[in-house]
Amino acid sequence: MEFKNVGDIARWRLCVGCGACVYACPENNVRLVDVESDGIRPCVDGENCKSCGECLKVCPGYGIAHDYGGARMPDSSDLEVGWGPVLEVWEGYAVDPDLRHSGSSGGAVSALALYCLEELGMDAVVHTGADRNTPWKNATTISHSRSDLLAATGSRYSPASPCDGLAHIEASDKHSVFLGKPCDVEGLRKAESLRPELAKRVGAVIGIFCAGTPSTLATLELLKTLQVEPNRVRGIRYRGKGWPGMFAVTQNGDESPSRKMPYRDAWGFLQKYRPFRCYLCPDGTSEFADISCGDAWHRLRTQDEFGYSLIIARTEKGREIIRGAIGQSYVSLQRVEPDILERAQGNLLAKRREIWGRLFAMRILGVPVPTFDGFHLLKNWLESPIAEQTRSILGTMRRVLQRGYRKPLEC
Ligand SMILES: Cc1cc2nc3c(=O)[nH]c(=O)nc-3n(C[C@H](O)[C@H](O)[C@H](O)COP(=O)(O)OP(=O)(O)OC[C@H]3O[C@@H](n4cnc5c(N)ncnc54)[C@H](O)[C@@H]3O)c2cc1C
Repeated sequence: MEFKNVGDIARWRLCVGCGACVYACPENNVRLVDVESDGIRPCVDGENCKSCGECLKVCPGYGIAHDYGGARMPDSSDLEVGWGPVLEVWEGYAVDPDLRHSGSSGGAVSALALYCLEELGMDAVVHTGADRNTPWKNATTISHSRSDLLAATGSRYSPASPCDGLAHIEASDKHSVFLGKPCDVEGLRKAESLRPELAKRVGAVIGIFCAGTPSTLATLELLKTLQVEPNRVRGIRYRGKGWPGMFAVTQNGDESPSRKMPYRDAWGFLQKYRPFRCYLCPDGTSEFADISCGDAWHRLRTQDEFGYSLIIARTEKGREIIRGAIGQSYVSLQRVEPDILERAQGNLLAKRREIWGRLFAMRILGVPVPTFDGFHLLKNWLESPIAEQTRSILGTMRRVLQRGYRKPLEC
């Protein structure tokens, strides 16, 4: 299938919503819109598009590839099949008690980013926080300090496009940190390969684990079940403030959240609104980051236990940052055996094992698919039981046919 620009990627439901196309378009012809039932999507000014292809070059929805050039753990090839490049695995938390308490799990992401600002002299962290004007949505956020980072702690289970802030990184005369989901990190990496002036300014890339991003509609429907009018919302936290914490809504005129739901119930509700493209994503753990962080779910006992994060050093730069942050007491971490990844994140591995079957089903039906190189997708699929293999193909065929995915969206 020939794609003209990222508008075609969105029409074929392949867009991941990272926002890198906004940065890449030399004519400023791409605008992002939040399609409530789906995610943040590019809207291309077709009349002025010269089909130069720059937006497609940075688009992770179109495809991603590993080159596996860096250092590896000894004998890590089996690990790589399921988890991508892994140098070291750690678990632990932010030493700063506020970052730990407010963070999604152990606050490690925010603490590592803070170390980069304060000790490595980086200029800013480009990441995601609540939109000030529409608090049930997200906005790309530029943090320069501990208080900025603290305000943006916690996962926001709704669309975010932090790559629309790449111009900020490029314009700075210092290094910056980029922080995002796996697809955001992929968008950044593709943009770096296109624009050396951006690559020079990226000081560290921290990725979070991700099982897929629920649409804005998910949050709006959840608010409805809690009997909250969106125009009464002053703030939403999806989790954190305890582990795993609560979905908590603060309404106008209130000092503290008046409506709450335990994280597990809220995620159970929201995750049903993840778009089709998220079901095709093999990268649940930010394999292209220098450091990736997720939840140490294997440790979870109670609602209010202090949180722990899992941290993977993916590159030499990531390893150095982790060690520096331990040395300067930003994080308290213990080295752990990599098999912990499967215990903590078995769902992400199970999903990766289904991807080859899902893509195969789409190919049979003539639906365009993204290209994924270096993810060992066939090998992963062959490792799953025959019932799962069959389900991954037949279930996807059913979904594509029932939902009319053989045709592009009209725009
Ligand atoms: C949609 C989604 C799905 C996730 N799925 C999983 C999963 O399956 N398994 C797992 O272990 N972890 C998952 N996470 C990540 C996890 O929730 C934590 O972010 C991670 O454990 C780091 O915790 P922390 O306490 O170190 O992070 P914190 O210190 O609290 O920092 C979190 C950072 O995440 C950034 N962020 C928040 N929401 C978004 C967003 N929508 N897009 C981009 N960046 C964002 C913020 O800017 C903040 O800097 C998911 C997160 C999201 C947003």
